[in-house]
Amino acid sequence: MSGRLSVIGLGPGDARWLTPEAQAGLAEADALFGYGPYLDRVAVRAGQTRHPSDNREEIARAGAALTAAAAGARVALVTAGDPGVFAMAAAVCEAIEQGPPAWRAIDLAIIPGVTAMLAVAARAGAPLGHDFCALSLSDNLKPWETIERRLDAAAGAGFVLALYNPLSRARPWQLGQAFARLRTHLPDATPVVFGRAVGRDDERVRITTLAEAATEAADMATLIIVGSAATRVVARPGRTPLVYTPRAAERPA
Ligand code: SAH
Repeated sequence: MSGRLSVIGLGPGDARWLTPEAQAGLAEADALFGYGPYLDRVAVRAGQTRHPSDNREEIARAGAALTAAAAGARVALVTAGDPGVFAMAAAVCEAIEQGPPAWRAIDLAIIPGVTAMLAVAARAGAPLGHDFCALSLSDNLKPWETIERRLDAAAGAGFVLALYNPLSRARPWQLGQAFARLRTHLPDATPVVFGRAVGRDDERVRITTLAEAATEAADMATLIIVGSAATRVVARPGRTPLVYTPRAAERPA
């Protein structure tokens, strides 16, 4: 029997956001690989083995999953959100490109999931209703100067920004610097959404402005959406405000 590797997006946390395809991929697997806390979200059935790993070891984890699949196992490698967004699908492709030729023959399926920015946007209204871009603020895999250049280009061009990996214990100052940078391009009143652990029990969504945005409102489980100059906030009685970016952009002055 030939093996198979499914790289599966679990979505942001709420079990109802797991697609039927992802559920089927989890159910048919003999071996489950992934970062420990993500694997903890998956109900293990009898006969399945679990292979939790540390967050940093992405290439090693991809290699271990590929090795098991090449040996004939049906392997599921799980990620939060979507596997193609700052996650394991690219690490698997990289491992296949650099690894033994046999890995290219493995039956590989990338199973998409709801990515965090879509879940956070849905909670807030429609902040991604017009052109937007997604950036990771982590400088583990790219130089900080590159991140600054991309923030300048994106905010300067009028894109709404979805910021993944805003900060961690090892990266305490980057988010403050990013906000300072964005304030040079955008009005003080630009809406900013902090969506933390969306879809989980400890979910928290906060809406503020760029002038007021504080790094203390974010942690590793937070995704931040920074509006463009066109993004609007609609107050509602007894309900959280709606943040949205109109579908049409005005002609530049
Ligand atoms: N593949 C994932 C992203 C991995 S990068 C996806 O598609 O969502 C990890 C970052 O994702 C976190 O630092 C945070 O910015 C964001 N994130 C993941 N799950 C989240 C959730 N439930 N709520 C808010 N942000 C989340």
